Amino acid sequence: METGVQTCSSTVKFDIDFAGGYCDGTLTFADRKMTVRDEAGERVLAIDACDELLIRSDVGCGSLEYRPKGAQGDDDNIAVCRFTMACINDVGEFCKVVNHYIATGEVTQISPENSRVCPKCGRHYMNGMNMCIFCTEKTHLYRRVFAMAKPYYKRIAAALLLVLLADAANAAVPILNGKVLDTYLYAAHPHVQTAVSGILQLCALMLVSKVFSQICTVLGRRHIAVFGAGLAHTLRVAVYDKIQRISLKELQKKTGGDLMGRVTDDTEEVKDFIGEAAVRAVYQLVMFLVIIAVLCSISVPLTLLVLVPVPVGLYIFYMFRVTVRIRYMKQWRCERRGNSVLRDIVEGIRVVKIFGAEKREIGKFDHISRQLSDICIRNERLWAVTFPYVTFLIGIGEFLVIYFGGRMALNGTISAGQLLQFTLFLAYLYGPISWFSRLPQRLGRVNTSIIKIFEILDENEEMQNETGKTDVSFRDTMEFRNVRFGYTPYEPVLKDVNLTVRKGEMIGLVGHSGAGKSTMINLVMRLYDPDSGALCIDSVDIRAFDPAVYRSRIAVVFQQTFLFAGTVYDNIVYAKPDASPQEIIRAAKIANAHDFIMRLPDGYNTLIGENAHNLSGGEKQRIAIARAVLRDPEILILDEATSALDTETESQIQQAMSRLVQGRTTFAIAHRLSTLKDANRLVVIEDGRIVEVGSHNELLEKGGIYANLVAAQHRTAKLKS
Ligand code: ADP
Repeated sequence: METGVQTCSSTVKFDIDFAGGYCDGTLTFADRKMTVRDEAGERVLAIDACDELLIRSDVGCGSLEYRPKGAQGDDDNIAVCRFTMACINDVGEFCKVVNHYIATGEVTQISPENSRVCPKCGRHYMNGMNMCIFCTEKTHLYRRVFAMAKPYYKRIAAALLLVLLADAANAAVPILNGKVLDTYLYAAHPHVQTAVSGILQLCALMLVSKVFSQICTVLGRRHIAVFGAGLAHTLRVAVYDKIQRISLKELQKKTGGDLMGRVTDDTEEVKDFIGEAAVRAVYQLVMFLVIIAVLCSISVPLTLLVLVPVPVGLYIFYMFRVTVRIRYMKQWRCERRGNSVLRDIVEGIRVVKIFGAEKREIGKFDHISRQLSDICIRNERLWAVTFPYVTFLIGIGEFLVIYFGGRMALNGTISAGQLLQFTLFLAYLYGPISWFSRLPQRLGRVNTSIIKIFEILDENEEMQNETGKTDVSFRDTMEFRNVRFGYTPYEPVLKDVNLTVRKGEMIGLVGHSGAGKSTMINLVMRLYDPDSGALCIDSVDIRAFDPAVYRSRIAVVFQQTFLFAGTVYDNIVYAKPDASPQEIIRAAKIANAHDFIMRLPDGYNTLIGENAHNLSGGEKQRIAIARAVLRDPEILILDEATSALDTETESQIQQAMSRLVQGRTTFAIAHRLSTLKDANRLVVIEDGRIVEVGSHNELLEKGGIYANLVAAQHRTAKLKS
């Protein structure tokens, strides 16, 4: 960062012109000017004359507007450019850089992590990904997977040795076969009896070789299975562990289905491939070289004949890999879309049923599933058509061998037994060739999975446990200092928020829906960090604290309570795993939950189903309140906490809450303003800014937004009564 005269520039792309057609445009911010270039020409807008750059998102596209200084309203704004949603993130980042410059005079750059375009190939990243699937270097990712497989190296080596032994034993069969022919059949052995016993001995050897080969194969496969399962476990746990530690901001860019897919499907895909390929690739290569050596030892000219078409076939497969990769990527994206839809339907099944939308949802899934099956069919058809042609091309050598080998046998250059051995070994040669030629098909899928796994594993963590301060002492004040924050770069939600809260104060956050109240408490909980400005406790930025320790000082009760599948006891003790049963019961009593819990079939041991469908909204909420009581927090957050309770329960809870908030710093959001009567101060938020602060009476006297909200609620209450 630098201050004053701008020296570095930021450039992003946009892709629609004002007529709605596609275009190839760029926006550049340099030397205090913004330059807009597209096929129609170039426009320059002075940033010093600009009040703010604004993004308007529309259905499927967005537009960038320039608000000149002194503009009276939106009509004075100048339209800069339009773009599809593929560009909105980049244009949003651009906007952030320019607006930051306008506000502070500081020149920042679009950070490469925030860009959605690959700097190498210029393609937009796929939804939910921060890496280019085409340009990401894969070799080092594979190396990292193999590094994770380190504990299994011995097993891999054992498996490799066993499969090699199995094949060596198998390879003895054609050699012994050739020996039977050459020694006893063609050579017209003088003693029939001796010949028969010789053949018997060779047959016995062949049997022993086969049995030995089978035993080695079984043992080798066992090692491979253990290695594969172990690797899958390591990957799954690593991805799951990482998902827990990534910031919410990053996490919410990905859908739940996508994240679940990465933990389960992608790790499985990698396991299936690596688990087998780790052993198979080496084995097939060794096999290939050994067989070539054996074939050469029988006849070099015949071996060369066999190998002539192989490079041509392999080259075709090599060229084919890009098509395969793109096609499998499409298939994979479609699979993931299907998973997301399925997950949505399962989670929202009540809403689906209430709105009678079963048919619509089935249709939606049917459409995606059909699309997926079409893609699969196309992919498999492509493979099914290409693969036999190329394997036929590679296998042409076999016919040449029979013709030329036959001639050589007739004129005595090689024996009939040797020719038989050669053709039998030749069959072994096509195994490795066929395995390697199928590799692009499998790599197409597994590369995508590996990239997705490591994208998560390489994501920045929000936690800095080693460096974060663990002495989170709250003695005096908590402050919002010039806080600006948006969930996306193009839509600021909180703008220049300044607020000082004294320890022990209860703050009621008030405002219209969507004003930014929950966002403020999200920042207090440090689920997100401000884009600029800071939240401080006793003048220390909360980012300096270890997040886990910091959050251990906070308890929260949401309107929508999430309870885990388990017992009532498990759900309360979640707040303090070492709490005694007496503490749990005390907390439940304070939350007015004890009586209803005791009426449940198994009391505290009653199992709560997934999403606690067997409890009423009020009961779930009282369990959540008990959880908060048990936590004994310094900072308490009540997000519409009492709104789901009936009047009688609510008054009891209000009493408990009044006791609970004593001595704690509390941020409370309530839909019904009357429930905030205990608050020391009310903070009114409007469109992301604090517009009024004061006590209930002060704000009523002021006759501003709060007074209007109270009046509106009174009117509604009267209408209802
Ligand atoms: P309030 O609590 O005052 O009703 P919120 O703080 O929940 O308002 O929301 C403020 C704005 O931020 C709204 O426009 C909302 O759509 C947006 N918003 C809230 N949560 C998210 C999120 N996780 N991702 C993107 N936008 C969000």
